[in-house]
Amino acid sequence: MEKSDLIYVAGHAGLVGSAIVRSLNQSGFHNLLLRTHAELDLTCQHAVEKLFQEYRPDYVFLAAAKVGGILANWERSAEFIYENLMIQNNVIHQSYVSGVKKLLFLGSSCIYPKFANQPISEDELLSGKLEPTNEPYAIAKIAGIKLCDSYRRQYQANFISAMPTNLYGPNDNFDLETSHVLPALMRKIHDAKVNEDDTVVVWGSGQPRREFLYIDDLADALLFLMGNYSSEGPINVGCGLDISILELTHLLMEVISYQGLIEFDQSKPDGTPRKMLDTTKLDKIGWRPKVSLKEGIELTYNWFLDNVAKHFGQ
Ligand code: GDP
Repeated sequence: MEKSDLIYVAGHAGLVGSAIVRSLNQSGFHNLLLRTHAELDLTCQHAVEKLFQEYRPDYVFLAAAKVGGILANWERSAEFIYENLMIQNNVIHQSYVSGVKKLLFLGSSCIYPKFANQPISEDELLSGKLEPTNEPYAIAKIAGIKLCDSYRRQYQANFISAMPTNLYGPNDNFDLETSHVLPALMRKIHDAKVNEDDTVVVWGSGQPRREFLYIDDLADALLFLMGNYSSEGPINVGCGLDISILELTHLLMEVISYQGLIEFDQSKPDGTPRKMLDTTKLDKIGWRPKVSLKEGIELTYNWFLDNVAKHFGQ
């Protein structure tokens, strides 16, 4: 990418998109095309076509998506499959039509089978049944990878697909019903501390294992991939370490300084037992994460205190 190139970051207000914008700005890329959800409905084919015809961006980071935690994915699966299919169909197709030089599509580690071999290499894609709680979302994301691959094969479009592990950091969603586990537990533990509650509730058994990547590390990896990688199929982005939800709870309690008890709500699903990504492919082209989980949690908690807790008068 040249500093003068026009770069469209779809979904720039979200967790991933906002980190990409920060990273682009820090690297001297300031010619950015950004539209909020209110300004542009990416599920609308005509609106997306108009944007691409008018601005003709050189590069596209497709970070716009309907995302959510285990419960939201289960209860609102129609929205998750419909909106994601529409967004990616529109953005990927218009990127081809308007001659975008390179597009990076973002998926998720839930595209891999529920019982994939661990750590999960890119070859596990479509080798088994998906985790039911997020199957509709995962199928949309798999369709996105296949779109990129097909446009590459048929039209020689330089479209790539990155599959990040579970992400967290500033601008995350801290809503207890729809968020992912790390921000949800951060908020619950913070609230328990402020309210002097004896216990904090953790969904499921606490036994599932998850890998967590700090969002600025992800953005750094995505810029690296834009510059150094052009190939079909997904490429995993992770940190190579996973922990159980119980261990994560203890780490959060340590950072937040809360000494209460942990209660398990077994009426909530555990989801997939383990999803740790094999990052050999990314390692080989020379990218490694920099932020440890503890550091990342501290940075996120400071952001939470300044930007979320304040609004609740805590
Ligand atoms: P997943 O990675 O797609 O399963 O999505 P989540 O990040 O939502 O959940 C990961 C794991 O954390 C699951 O086993 C959840 O049951 C567990 N978990 C424990 N407490 C919570 C919570 O308060 N919110 C969420 N979203 N998950 C929780």
